[in-house]
Amino acid sequence: MTKWVYLYNEVKEVEKATGGDWDDVKGLVGGKGAGLLDMTRAGVPVPPFFTVTTQACNAYQKAGKFPPGLWAQELAALKQVEKKAGKKFGDPNNPLLVSCRSGAKFSMPGMMDTVLNIGLTDETAAGLVKLSGNPRFVYDSYRRLVEMFGTVVLGIPDEAFEEPLQEYKTRKGYKLDVEMKADDWKEMVRAFREVVKKHQGFDFPQDPYKQLELATEAVFKSWNGKRAIDYRRATNIPDDLGTAVNIVTMVFGNMGDDSGTGVAFTRNPSTGDRKMMGEYLLNAQGEDVVAGIRNADPIENLKTKMPEAYNQFMDITAKLEKHYKDMQDVEFTIEHRKLWMLQTRVGKRTAKSAVKIAVDMANDGLITKEEAVKRVTPDQVDTMLHPQFDDQAKKNAEKAGSLFGKGVNASPGAAVGQAYFDADLAEKMAKEQKQDVIMVRPFTKPDDVHGMIAAKGVLTSEGGATSHAAVVARQFGIPCIVGASAIKIDLEKRVMVVGETKVKEGDWISVDGTTGNVYIGKIPMSAPSLEEQTELMTLLKWADEISSRPNIRVAPKGWPTRGLQVWANADYPKDAQRARSYGAMGIGLCRTEHMFFEPERLPIVQRMILSETSEGRTKALNELLPYQRKDFDGLFDAMNGLPVIIRLIDPPLHEFMPSEEALLEEVITMRVKGETAGLAEKEKMLNAVKGMHESNPMMGLRGVRLSIYMPEIVEMQVRAIFEAAADCTNRGIVVKPEVMIPLTGTVKELEWIQPRLERIASAVMAEKKVKFPYKFGTMIEIPRAAVTAAEIAEHAQFFSFGTNDLTQMTFGYSRDDAERNFLVTYVEQGILAKNPFQTIDRDGVGRLMKMAIDDGRSTRPELEVGICGEHGGDPDSIEWCHIIGNNYVSCSPFRVPIARLAAAHVALKYSGKTAKKAAAPKAKKPVVKAKSKVKKTASKAKTAKRKK
Ligand code: PEP
Ligand code: MG
Repeated sequence: MTKWVYLYNEVKEVEKATGGDWDDVKGLVGGKGAGLLDMTRAGVPVPPFFTVTTQACNAYQKAGKFPPGLWAQELAALKQVEKKAGKKFGDPNNPLLVSCRSGAKFSMPGMMDTVLNIGLTDETAAGLVKLSGNPRFVYDSYRRLVEMFGTVVLGIPDEAFEEPLQEYKTRKGYKLDVEMKADDWKEMVRAFREVVKKHQGFDFPQDPYKQLELATEAVFKSWNGKRAIDYRRATNIPDDLGTAVNIVTMVFGNMGDDSGTGVAFTRNPSTGDRKMMGEYLLNAQGEDVVAGIRNADPIENLKTKMPEAYNQFMDITAKLEKHYKDMQDVEFTIEHRKLWMLQTRVGKRTAKSAVKIAVDMANDGLITKEEAVKRVTPDQVDTMLHPQFDDQAKKNAEKAGSLFGKGVNASPGAAVGQAYFDADLAEKMAKEQKQDVIMVRPFTKPDDVHGMIAAKGVLTSEGGATSHAAVVARQFGIPCIVGASAIKIDLEKRVMVVGETKVKEGDWISVDGTTGNVYIGKIPMSAPSLEEQTELMTLLKWADEISSRPNIRVAPKGWPTRGLQVWANADYPKDAQRARSYGAMGIGLCRTEHMFFEPERLPIVQRMILSETSEGRTKALNELLPYQRKDFDGLFDAMNGLPVIIRLIDPPLHEFMPSEEALLEEVITMRVKGETAGLAEKEKMLNAVKGMHESNPMMGLRGVRLSIYMPEIVEMQVRAIFEAAADCTNRGIVVKPEVMIPLTGTVKELEWIQPRLERIASAVMAEKKVKFPYKFGTMIEIPRAAVTAAEIAEHAQFFSFGTNDLTQMTFGYSRDDAERNFLVTYVEQGILAKNPFQTIDRDGVGRLMKMAIDDGRSTRPELEVGICGEHGGDPDSIEWCHIIGNNYVSCSPFRVPIARLAAAHVALKYSGKTAKKAAAPKAKKPVVKAKSKVKKTASKAKTAKRKK
């Protein structure tokens, strides 16, 4: 018979059943169950409990009913819990009450269901009144059970219970729940039971066992509730894990003023500071603190209120943090001054906090540097480089009277958007209207998560730093302010008000999650400086140390044995400087044509294009040469000592000309108005543009084809590169130029062009009487080049994968159009697992890359290989580049820090494994997704620029 249930003292049995790995233990009994079992083993005061496994949940989902043996095992375990607790379930003389709480492998805060106070009936309630002498507590607990049971198990809407309570309080003239007396709560029990009867047609069950059975089933069902599914989609938690169910002896924080309940993080989850951050409420139960409905007291205040319990709590939590070697998120209850721990789990945190905690713990020797590096995700680094509000702009806004309110700075970062007052509308406006949205609520509940995820920022007027809104926002890196209590939100009128100032739904606001300030209107933002984020700098330094370890990659002779280097795509010296300050070890792509677009150069470029003779072209190019030389000089200077790959002109020439339509319009207007001055030139240009027209320019006269068709341009470029390199060398700068020929499709192209260019390189070095190392290489962005890489490597000293074009040409999808039409459907329908312009398609494009590297290195073992398409900053693509033997990845300067971390992660992941094994193709089925986003890649931006 399958064992579906484990008792509080059966941690060893769970370890035996799962093979002992803690991750698998969590898989079977859930994170909460594992924490409770482990705490019990360590002697921490945990109320007696038992846990129903995730396997039981999965069996239930399959069969639609409890698997055979489960209920009998629950009853047997309950007997043991009764023994340990010294109470009996359903016994009016000494009733045991239990909670029934969900707990999946990965915490999904508030996304599934919980029922407290199970076991209370008319009979046991009366018994408990006698026993405790505290009828207020008993009837408060009983009405909570009826309410939770009604909403969670029976699916009655919250309002059905909220309304009679509100009505009653108004009738009695009460403002707060604490004013309710024993008789008031007793009256509410009656009223709530009527609600159940009215909605369901039957009474609230007076059989405690029925309560337990139905509650267990409700928790199983909540695994497939909408909010749990939404959350899993957003966090990539697999659907087939199931939730465990923890049945835990109730201890009561609502037994009077010597009782209380609270939640705490062992370090600050927002900043990472080494200070316990928590909140508690006296005379309150479980969910009150987390829901943020009542504003709680900071945990420090407990020290004076209940010193003994406080000291014990601090002692236990310090031990828990040491034991788990990570920041813990704990829940506790104090019943008549006795402390009970109800939960410990690894706490959710912001990106900033994740980095600080990892670095602090490694510096303290609690974890290794490798572990610290592994604990931070590339996405978190990305968040830390997200824009912040300009200091000056904030000051200006304050001066102008735009500061609207202030609250708790729950999740850092800046967000600007239109305010919407409910989750559905926030999601709708973000998704359908593509608006930037700030979700504003008095407080949030798990049902609101979809709106939060869609929003740029979140603002609540109630709740504290551990409220639901704060915890969820931190996890998703959404800037968030909670408890801005001066702001009165009127959900009926759809406005929020502070004094005389009103913000209507749909108005723009700016939310500063770092300071807690809310402003009216839009405040400008700027990129934060990496240098000022010292912990992140330290972590990235450790990442680089890991990546640069020799032999971290097992590889054939000549191939890289260190991890990937990270280079950057930079066209201008200022980009190169930023790239270097962000840790780039080289420039992997300088798109030289961008320099042609500068206003003073474009007319020269156009003159060059329009000239009919080689001499005319050369004359214009001679004018361009000093500009290009200056550009390259700046790049070499910024990258002193590091390689700089300069790509020769790539796009079709018509991109440098005005559009045919615009010219035609101008010419016609001039003709109609009878303007003659300049008309002849315009007409000439129009004819030239017409002559350049290609139906398929991306597959036309561009790249190396253009160089062969019109070699004067690239000859000028190579001269400019080598003159700049020579001048820099003469100034003491160490240069490593690498000239890159784009869009090669056949080795014959290289055979034609490369010697002519190399002759210029040698000539310049002779003229300038200097020598420096240099390389000539090519981009691999046409499938034919990948397939014939062995021959191409006879000439090319390096390959750089232009994966934007390589993806376009391998799939036959236009990089300019696919992302705005069928690709969205393809990803939604699961035809493609991911957008291939964002993440390398390993099975197709990726295989071509691997073949090209293998074949290329069979000709030239020391062949340098990189990638410079947009994929170079994508962690999944970075992993592929490591596996197939790239020397480096090159991405935009802003993504360099993310790529450095991703490179270290993959180096650690595959450390000691041969490339062959790691690269073995896996026929993975794409996941069919319910919802997905196809993000636009930067290639779109580039296209937009090109089309301008
Ligand atoms: C590429 O094709 O991946 C590439 C880097 O070149 P471009 O985007 O300039 O075509
Ligand atoms: Mg390209």
